[in-house]
Amino acid sequence: MSCEIIQIHENTWRIEDDGVRIFLLVGTKKALLIDSGMNLNNARDIATGLTDLPLSLLNTHADRDHIGSNEQFDTFFMHPAEEPLYRCSGKPGTIIPIQEGDTLNLGDRELRIIHLPGHTPGSIAVLDVQNRVLISGDPIQEHGRIFMFGHHRNMKDYITSLEHLKDFADQFDEIWPSHADIPVSPDVIQKLHDGAQAVLYGTIQGKPAEFFRQKIFAYDLGFCILLCDR
Ligand SMILES: [Zn+2]
Repeated sequence: MSCEIIQIHENTWRIEDDGVRIFLLVGTKKALLIDSGMNLNNARDIATGLTDLPLSLLNTHADRDHIGSNEQFDTFFMHPAEEPLYRCSGKPGTIIPIQEGDTLNLGDRELRIIHLPGHTPGSIAVLDVQNRVLISGDPIQEHGRIFMFGHHRNMKDYITSLEHLKDFADQFDEIWPSHADIPVSPDVIQKLHDGAQAVLYGTIQGKPAEFFRQKIFAYDLGFCILLCDR
């Protein structure tokens, strides 16, 4: 499987898998892989080639482009609201539930979980506390496509999550999304919020489009595209 491995800082890597990004965070005692890829099926091997420390996996959510190598882990952290979506994928493994306010400590590196439902019911972001970085998963993107079509998406919850995220705005300086630009300025949260409200309340018009034979609407807001049922 081909992918690009890029070291961001001394103890942090991003692995680019054909438009989807996963992260490896290393502390003094443990390492954490955030998501396991789309086409990749060997994310664990890649991570253990970069660190000798005990490795765990956390999934930001259970969409198929984020769980490619989950078979390589017997257990993984995931929000419990993702379980139905995860089981639909047919992938194995035991979910270790993780929720809003929970923390993981990798050794001198504290991570805090923020629940951001909307894109999926159990989407979570990871706040890398000392480094002041938010690893957002899919809810935050710049120049990307945020998928809001399908039965497990909820635009109202998404807007509420963006408002919730603003409560943490003094705790991070940049955002690392799973898709498109990296890093992203926290200013994008307000832009996404305003765009999502415009879509929800019908104050902008979408263009009919098709995605894998599903009829959808694309909203080009200048900074991202939202897709949803209408
Ligand atoms: Zn995704």
